[in-house]
Amino acid sequence: MKIIDIHAHVYEKIAGITEGQPMSSTAMGRVTVGNQERQLLPPSFEYSRSTGEMLIAHMDWCGIEKALLMPNPYYGYHSRYFVENILKYPDRLKGVALVDILKGEKAARELSRYYDDGILFGMKIEVNSTFQCAPETRMSDDKLTPVWDCCNQYRQPVFLHMFRTEDIEDLKFLTKNYPDIVFVICHMGADSCFGKGMPKDNYEEVLEIVKQNKNVYIDTSTVPVYFEEEYPWTSSVRIIEDCYYRVGPEKMMWASDYPGMLNHGTMQQLINLVVTGCTHIPDSHKELIMAENARRLFWNN
Ligand SMILES: [Zn+2]
Repeated sequence: MKIIDIHAHVYEKIAGITEGQPMSSTAMGRVTVGNQERQLLPPSFEYSRSTGEMLIAHMDWCGIEKALLMPNPYYGYHSRYFVENILKYPDRLKGVALVDILKGEKAARELSRYYDDGILFGMKIEVNSTFQCAPETRMSDDKLTPVWDCCNQYRQPVFLHMFRTEDIEDLKFLTKNYPDIVFVICHMGADSCFGKGMPKDNYEEVLEIVKQNKNVYIDTSTVPVYFEEEYPWTSSVRIIEDCYYRVGPEKMMWASDYPGMLNHGTMQQLINLVVTGCTHIPDSHKELIMAENARRLFWNN
């Protein structure tokens, strides 16, 4: 079966932000967050970096045809490194843009420069890291309007990693107001759905948004993390199959969230989560989820 990964991270060195503190690479998969050191990646990541070469090696190893490089302020701003790798592996990699959307108009201008250059595309928002310095900010705030207008005008997809209940309200607002933006909900709703203390009906609401709006999709990555379970991740398989029954195979895309997910399973196991794990999904529909939806949306040129 063909496989396209729509969410993989590369960086030469982590220089990000989390929990209001800087995060940076040390060694053996470890990072510092403020003064504390913690294991972020497996120790085989000797320099605590995720290179393009290493990603391509994993893709070759597991038969992954193409991947989208996904940014996140959590790891830092690595657009230059993305571009370098995309130019090196033009048939294998595409990369998503990251700007500081709190800058409003200025962020929109930066985005339009990326789109005019034609190497990076789309936009990523990871709510927790993005709004760390301004936690009251909502995605629907007026000051972010220029950014959404820019994505809509250029017809660029937006990848959303949501954390808060109010993000789901904002998603409804955005999907209605920006019909020319394709929205991809990362990690099946992530913390906004599966995080501790979240109301149970959040997930139902997200599935309804995916089902009702033709411009909204969902990716299947990192679900096992929220259920603290070991491979073969039976709760995660159930969640993915339930999602399939609710929204249909045209709206779902597989993703690895490499390399952080290697703490929980191998790349092959992350593939198997859907390919061999989801026994209720027929192969023809798995082909859509594993590659063909992504190919149609992101490699249609
Ligand atoms: Zn990620």
